[in-house]
Amino acid sequence: PTKGQPVSQQPVVLCLSGLDPSGGAGLSADIESIAAQGGHCAGIATALTVQNSRGVSDFQPISRDFIARQLAELLDDMQFSAIKTGMLADANLAKLVCNLAQDHAESPLVIDPVIKAGKRSLALPDLIDALRELIGHATVCTPNLPEAAVLAECDEDEIDLMVRWFANTGCRYLLLTGGQCDNQRVINRLYDLQSNPLQDPKLIQTLSWPRLTGEFHGTGCTLAATLATRLALGESMQTASRKAQTFTWKSLQSPCTPGTGQQFPNRL
Ligand code: PLP
Repeated sequence: PTKGQPVSQQPVVLCLSGLDPSGGAGLSADIESIAAQGGHCAGIATALTVQNSRGVSDFQPISRDFIARQLAELLDDMQFSAIKTGMLADANLAKLVCNLAQDHAESPLVIDPVIKAGKRSLALPDLIDALRELIGHATVCTPNLPEAAVLAECDEDEIDLMVRWFANTGCRYLLLTGGQCDNQRVINRLYDLQSNPLQDPKLIQTLSWPRLTGEFHGTGCTLAATLATRLALGESMQTASRKAQTFTWKSLQSPCTPGTGQQFPNRL
């Protein structure tokens, strides 16, 4: 194949995510979710984690220089139809992704702002500020309510404030997950943040899902990686969001339980 020409009919989704050796979240979740949609994942591990299905005990970011070299080799070889980020761990990596996003503004960029796993932080101290800047380059950001509250520095029930904060970064769409409806259902809301800069952000989709009992690990990664692939396939944001939520919901209905702790989405 000629250098720079795509060699596959499958859309290639570039993922920058942490490696979870238990296989529930992070890069394994990306690879499985993307393959299940008919895409191909080019995956760069941003950090190694020490964890099992019961939780995370430590992590170690990979150096910015090493990741920059991996990126350069991939960019010399493949064309990406979408880019997805998960755990970035270190501000230096978030800044590297900012540069990548500026150079590839034509590719949809899905940012899952991974900050914590349970109560355990997955972020070095200056990551949050770098993440705030990176979110300004996103096509869509997929925080859950706790992540959105940390980023926007507000309470989890101040949804209007959160949404406005995301709109002010320049982020194009916001898929805010895990909203409370009642004890039986959760609500995910999709906003068009820039439909008209003079108007308020527009709520364009509200989907509610029965609340499942039990604890799950890797749900956010599954949703964001699937969304990135659906966008890579050329779908509209609304269609991609609905299909990604449906796929994630199905993956939780017959979960996989390889360990003694949390259940994992079954993506195969
Ligand atoms: N990425 C990695 C590497 C992780 O270890 C975790 C959580 O432990 C996450 C992402 C976030 O997982 P979830 O999809 O459950 O929010």
